[in-house]
Amino acid sequence: MTPASIIAIDGPAASGKSTLARHLAERLGYLYFDTGVMYRAVTLAALDRMVPLDDEEAVTRLAHQVNLDVLPTQADHDGAAYIVIMDGEDVTGKLRSPEIDTNVSQVSAYPGVREAMSRRQREIGLRGRVVMVGRDIGTVVLPDAQLKLYLDATVQERAHRRYEECQLRGEDADFDEVLESMNARDHYDSHRAVAPLKPADDAEILDTTDLSIQDMVETALALAERHTPEDVPG
Ligand code: C5P
Repeated sequence: MTPASIIAIDGPAASGKSTLARHLAERLGYLYFDTGVMYRAVTLAALDRMVPLDDEEAVTRLAHQVNLDVLPTQADHDGAAYIVIMDGEDVTGKLRSPEIDTNVSQVSAYPGVREAMSRRQREIGLRGRVVMVGRDIGTVVLPDAQLKLYLDATVQERAHRRYEECQLRGEDADFDEVLESMNARDHYDSHRAVAPLKPADDAEILDTTDLSIQDMVETALALAERHTPEDVPG
């Protein structure tokens, strides 16, 4: 049977979305597209160009001006399966700083920024054979996705994962700070007026707190087999 061709994965920070998406995309031979990098890139551009982040109009203008491309790569590039090009420059390695973590939710809450980003994301998603990761993929960007997964885990477990990632990158992290920053970002993402983080009505909810990566991938693959492209109306 043909598995779902458009797979949407949403959930809070460090719930396992990217890990699952990378494995799923590899197993199915699909494109892995992490939409968070687009909001991170706009935040980077604003910080670099000293555009005040609370100036909604200026940040929105910037989001429409920057030329963003997310390209798949075979080589291990900062642990990612893609590179992010902004105005001709490879910015992949600059997108995970604590400064961007702290500020990205403010930028992503601006309706004009979301409009610019989601339009591009939808175009890419509708080509099919894609695993797309974000906060609003199943609810707003691709409500027609054949399989929608919503991942969650306890906040302690998620902060622990993010803390370990920082340590692996050789960064000097403090667990309580990681926990606090993550809580703040999740609160902001879930309570914004436009496209807040929440499961789609028809999403499959997966609690990944005690799931191994392998179990998570096998569960999602089985679900992808059950949600065939023919399931989609129209
Ligand atoms: O997934 P990641 O942590 O890289 O996302 C960074 C931020 O980008 C999120 O905290 C959220 O504010 C925003 N985002 C979003 N919609 C998406 C993907 C990310 O608002 N589809």
